[in-house]
Amino acid sequence: MGPLMPSKTKYRRILLKLSGEALMGPGEYGLDDAAVDRITDQIVAVHRLGVEVCLVVGAGNIFRGLSGTASGIERASADYMGMLATVINALALQSVLESKDVVTRVLSAIPMETVCEPYIRRRAIRHMEKDRIVIFGAGTGNPFFTTDTAAALRASEMGCDALLKATQVDGVYSADPKSDKAAVRFDELTFHEVLSRDLKVMDASAIALARENNIPILVFSIHNEGALEEVVTGNGRFTIIREGSKGGG
Ligand code: UDP
Repeated sequence: MGPLMPSKTKYRRILLKLSGEALMGPGEYGLDDAAVDRITDQIVAVHRLGVEVCLVVGAGNIFRGLSGTASGIERASADYMGMLATVINALALQSVLESKDVVTRVLSAIPMETVCEPYIRRRAIRHMEKDRIVIFGAGTGNPFFTTDTAAALRASEMGCDALLKATQVDGVYSADPKSDKAAVRFDELTFHEVLSRDLKVMDASAIALARENNIPILVFSIHNEGALEEVVTGNGRFTIIREGSKGGG
């Protein structure tokens, strides 16, 4: 038996996936102080509710493997560059979170022992049990993957009750709502629907992994104030992706 469910929340342990873009704010590159400040406030608020929190962070604000290949860098090397960039974001989040009086650990899938801890599954779980926020860096540690897949993998390994995917919009749409006015928003979807309709939420390997391990994915906008807390308490606006109730999902 794990610890008791914190009273106000629906989840005991969550994994929050933050894209690099979320940390970039209105800028075009790197980290935006105000965006990082707002996001870390939300993480601290949820942690104060008694939820165990771990994070997977992307690197789209610094470097993406595919853009590297466009400049002639070999794909695997470009992907390693992307993974290293996630560690930069992880260290930034760690510092800002710790300035807000929470204890954190960065665990990297690529060992960098002078910078942070290597990823060890049981150690990561132990950190969360001790009330530390765990930040997973370097994705899965393998090229040809994304941090979305890393998020589904770590959520599975950590036995998380939910994977929260922070995006720029308030859920999953049938098309990009920023460019297509006819885009329809979904409150609820099954994993099967996401895959068969090729909805652009997370890549297919991430969806398949979450489905196999029965971890619901909640897609929401991190830009709305208090959004994370609302999602964790079962309120607010989000799209939930889970197994279909009739067994068809
Ligand atoms: N990456 C990788 N393996 C992983 C995770 C990430 O090779 O397991 C690389 C890949 O090149 C990717 C980059 O790291 O483009 C940054 O991650 P991602 O694009 O997922 O970041 P996000 O879009 O979430 O900001």
